[in-house]
Amino acid sequence: MNVLYIDLSKYRYEIVNRKDLFEEWIGGVGVGIQLLKEELNPNADPLSEENVIVFAIGPFTPAYPLASKTVALFKSPLTGNLGESHAGGRTATSIANAGYGAIVIKGRSKKPIYIVVENDKVHFRDARVLWGIEDSLIVGRIIAEKEKGRGIRTVMRIGGGGEKLVRYACVTTETYRHFGRLGLGAVFGSKNLKALVIIGKRSYSPKDKKSYKKIYDKIYKISLESDAMQKYHLIGTAVNILPLNELKSLPTKNLKSTRFEGAEEISGESFAAYNLGRRIACNHCPIACIHIAALRVPYEGERYFYKTIMISYDYELIYSLGSMLGIHSREGLLRLIHKVEAYGLDAISTGVCLAWATEALEKKLISEKETIVKLLFGDYEAYLKAIDYLVRQPNDFYKTLAKGVEKASQVYGGKEFALAFGGNEMPGYHTGYAAHLGYLIGLRHSHLDSGGYSIDQKIGEAKPKEIIDKLIEEEKWRQVLSSLVVCFFARKVYTPEVIVEAFKPLGIEIDENRLFELGSKIYAEKLRLKVKMGFNINSLRIPKRILETETLHGKLDKKFFDEALSYYSKIVKELI
Ligand code: SF4
Repeated sequence: MNVLYIDLSKYRYEIVNRKDLFEEWIGGVGVGIQLLKEELNPNADPLSEENVIVFAIGPFTPAYPLASKTVALFKSPLTGNLGESHAGGRTATSIANAGYGAIVIKGRSKKPIYIVVENDKVHFRDARVLWGIEDSLIVGRIIAEKEKGRGIRTVMRIGGGGEKLVRYACVTTETYRHFGRLGLGAVFGSKNLKALVIIGKRSYSPKDKKSYKKIYDKIYKISLESDAMQKYHLIGTAVNILPLNELKSLPTKNLKSTRFEGAEEISGESFAAYNLGRRIACNHCPIACIHIAALRVPYEGERYFYKTIMISYDYELIYSLGSMLGIHSREGLLRLIHKVEAYGLDAISTGVCLAWATEALEKKLISEKETIVKLLFGDYEAYLKAIDYLVRQPNDFYKTLAKGVEKASQVYGGKEFALAFGGNEMPGYHTGYAAHLGYLIGLRHSHLDSGGYSIDQKIGEAKPKEIIDKLIEEEKWRQVLSSLVVCFFARKVYTPEVIVEAFKPLGIEIDENRLFELGSKIYAEKLRLKVKMGFNINSLRIPKRILETETLHGKLDKKFFDEALSYYSKIVKELI
């Protein structure tokens, strides 16, 4: 399996067969961590030319359905630690069909460029004319017009957020998918890299066609027939708004509450009934969970002239830019989502930062001198302006807020209601101990590390140790899924048994025990790298607000967290 190494400082590239890594570490995260260990100085400044980006795919791409994701690994400018972000779209298939298992990007270009990878050729294109275009949708459209490869290419690019080094800027791929969390967009920006285009021209042929077809059909059938998948197709992840609201778990107005009076208006059901324009899918996915709303917007100063904007929405966006900011209006919420999408910002971090700023203003820790616009929960017009300021950073306050809520609360106060875990802004689940412990100890401080919110919904009374064990067990298994880089929505499709079976037609023999063993090994490798980058469990901060607001399990107790973290720190010591 080949790895493409691109050096932006020297405008050079090299293709190296790294069969050794893929045989030992599966692919995706497993291989990506090893490449990062080889190439990155763990003490590097994330926004310096020393930072390294690894994109990696797994052995099931493009062979099987729902192996549709690419993982990006880098040092995060938001947390100063390990950055990991997964995206769908067409990226994984394009990388595979271009002939690579991974792409490593090093150095920094002297001037703005974008890269085009066309199978084994790499072109460095001048992007000075694109630099300054803040709208990532327009950037994508211009590059798509100029470059060939329609239908077989991926266009990963940044908008104004990445250029202005907003520490939670994302990289947008195709139009509606993102390497969203932990600031990959700012790393692109710091490298003067506006976009990465990959055109994959090869096609796929399995070693054993007969058995391949059999297992392919099985995976396809399970995917289509599972209830979860049907639910995601019909309403999308936004289907979770109403149940989480009922369970007192939907963070609302900077988590002052977990019940939102406007939940019905911004529910997945309401979006599906009144705004849904179409559904689309990542490459090679039969589910199509991506829901796109159609919003009619008048042209400024014109009468009876409108444009229709297509806006992708899901649960996390509705939470972070909706309930968290007290927004009832679907139209207002769609306009916020569209603005964040255009600038190329991570929606969760943006929403949490603005929610904190609103409360800090209420509590008079800051004034309108800082925020420029009067931020009020529910006022989407004010938030639309504030998002412009976050990107353009006209004063010290917005310069600081563009570094994340942790940093802003260190400077302006209000740490107790600054909702970040390990420096990463909080996802949309206030379900109980497992969710929050998951954010704290998860190796990327994300709900996707271990799905603690789901454990909370299944578990009754539990001891701290029991929850930590469950979270770690789940996170270890997810290292296998992240090394295959399958969509996490398909985690019940890709059981250990199905994975073992699916490897066979590809000429790879592996058993279930080996899979579990690899999951544990990759988890430990990631943890060790994280510690080398400066992670210290004793510095983890628990925002007081999460103890004050009712969850599904009632109010949470600090002692429970202390006990759980003390048990976890013993596990960390053993592993590193
Ligand atoms: S289920 Fe959704 S996110 Fe997952 S691969 Fe399919 S379309 Fe993409």
